[in-house]
Amino acid sequence: MSDLQGKHGLIVGVANKRSIAWSIAQAASRAGAMLALTYQGERLEENVRELGTTLSPSPLILPCDVTSDEQIAELGAAVEREFGGLDFLLHAVAFASREALQAPYVQTSRAAFREALDISAYSLVALSREVAPLMSARGGGSILTLTYLGSQRVFPNYNVMGVAKAALEASVRYLASDLGPQNIRVNAISAGPIKTLAASGISGFSNILQLYRERAPLRRNIEAAEVADAAIFLLGPRGCAITAEVLTVDAGFQAMGM
Ligand code: NAD
Repeated sequence: MSDLQGKHGLIVGVANKRSIAWSIAQAASRAGAMLALTYQGERLEENVRELGTTLSPSPLILPCDVTSDEQIAELGAAVEREFGGLDFLLHAVAFASREALQAPYVQTSRAAFREALDISAYSLVALSREVAPLMSARGGGSILTLTYLGSQRVFPNYNVMGVAKAALEASVRYLASDLGPQNIRVNAISAGPIKTLAASGISGFSNILQLYRERAPLRRNIEAAEVADAAIFLLGPRGCAITAEVLTVDAGFQAMGM
C-alpha cells in the first residue's frame, strides 16, 4: 500500500506499543508517510522515541500536552519548520480522572468534567485550528479522531468519557463544516474496545470486551491494526469525498439491539 506516499502526518496520542495511535503510525509509515509523533510529558518521551526508531523514515518526535496552548502553538511551528505544511492529523487523545471512571456519573465533579472535556474533546478543536493553515498550504488535508459508542449509549463506568465523546463527535461535524471549504476533511472512527493504557482506567473493561465477543455479529473483538486499516483509508486520497463522518469499526456490535 502506498496511499500516503510523499505525505506528511502528525500523530498525537502514542503512549506505548499498545496505543491505537501507534498502530496507525506504523500503517501510515508503511503507506509511505513521513510522520511527526508527539509525547505527553517526559514520562512518555522515552517510549515514543524508542518506538520511533523502528519507523523508516525516522519520524520527528515532539512534545505536546494538549492542555497547553503554548505547546500546541510550538508543535504547529515545529511542524511548519520541518515539513513546510501538513497533509493529515491523527488525534488519539483522551483522559478522565480515575474517580470519574468509578463513581456513578451523577457524582462527577465540575473539575473532573472540565478536565475530561478539555483533554478529550476541546483538544481536537485546538489542534485543528493549529494545523488548518498548514493543510491549506497543501491544498487540503485530513483530520481523524477516535471515539467510542459510549457517546451514544450507556456503558458502566464510561461516565464522563461518554459525554466527552459526544462532544468530540459533534465537534467533528462542526469542524468539518468550518474547514471543508479549505478542502480539509474531519472524521472519526468509533472503535470497538481494545486493551490499551487508556482502557485500563475503565473499571470492568474486560466485561465490555467479553460482551462484544458474545454479541457482535463477527463474534470477536477487534485489533488496533484493523482500526489502522480504516484510518489509512480516511486519512488518504481514497477517502476524499468523506467528511463529517463517524465510521464504526467494531465487528458490528453497534447494530445489535440485544
Ligand atoms: P492510549 O492510552 O494508548 O492513548 C491515549 C493517549 O492520550 C496517550 O497517548 C496519552 O498520552 C494521551 N493523552 C492523555 N492526556 C493527554 C494530554 N493532556 N496531552 C496529550 N496527550 C494526552 O489508549 P488508546 O486506547 O489507544 O486511546 C486512543 C484514543 O482511542 C482515545 O481517544 C480513546 O478514547 C480512543 N478509543 C479507545 C478505545 C479502546 O477500547 N482502547 C475504543 C474506542 C476509542
